[in-house]
Amino acid sequence: MTTGAVDMEAGLCHGRDMRWIVSLGLVWIAACGPEGGTRPDVPRGKVPEAMAPETRVDGKPEVKPGDPGGANTALERRLAAAGLVAVTPGPGLRVALVYATARNFTGRALYDDLPRCWLRPEAARRLADAAARLRARRPELALWVADCTRPVSVQRELWRVHPNPAHVADPTRGTSAHNHGCAVDVTLATDAGGETLELGTGIDEFAAGEKLTVTHEARLCREGTLPAAACANRRLLRAVMTEAGFGVYEGEWWHFSGCDKGRYPAVE
Ligand SMILES: [Zn+2]
Repeated sequence: MTTGAVDMEAGLCHGRDMRWIVSLGLVWIAACGPEGGTRPDVPRGKVPEAMAPETRVDGKPEVKPGDPGGANTALERRLAAAGLVAVTPGPGLRVALVYATARNFTGRALYDDLPRCWLRPEAARRLADAAARLRARRPELALWVADCTRPVSVQRELWRVHPNPAHVADPTRGTSAHNHGCAVDVTLATDAGGETLELGTGIDEFAAGEKLTVTHEARLCREGTLPAAACANRRLLRAVMTEAGFGVYEGEWWHFSGCDKGRYPAVE
């Protein structure tokens, strides 16, 4: 998310149930279930297999700028025609799109025709670079990507399903860097098993307030409000992402921007 942008976030609750999610103006508020949550099919702290339909275990993270190869839905063909590329998961880089499953506040999959992570080529190259940097330091870990390009049509659908401005931001009032193919939401987990690392909050755990932010992180780490492991893991995530050229969003530790959204039209 970038300044002034509308950004709808829903993601992993560290394996816990998502109990509710609302938006207050430009900010999504969500609550996850209790620790050791009740979702029977998803072990706590594990990225659900069903959320990673395109994850491969062989091959290297790979992008082919300008190559629309593999575009196999109408939306993907449209994204490819608009110059976006699909990120190929591999060691160090996994994809588990939250809107590709029903585990979001609408209760249904909104990316039924978007199974993969699509990005502008420069953002995709940076993501692969970040994954390689992580792999060089911690080969047992991977970047787990929860959202990439988010078509404005999805934002409109969220509004259609729940047209309450107290809960859902009106997409006619602004766009997110996700809508332009520039932003990624990403967390750290084990490469092989998808066991999420301690990062202080889930990526959609907006009820955690300032614990979500980068802005207040240093103080929260000094105070011990954020566990030392979470502080170290966040620093690792930010290090590999920023070294690869991503910009940090101060409001959300998981959101990074890999290109200037003003240079690209929003994806419908
Ligand atoms: Zn985001």
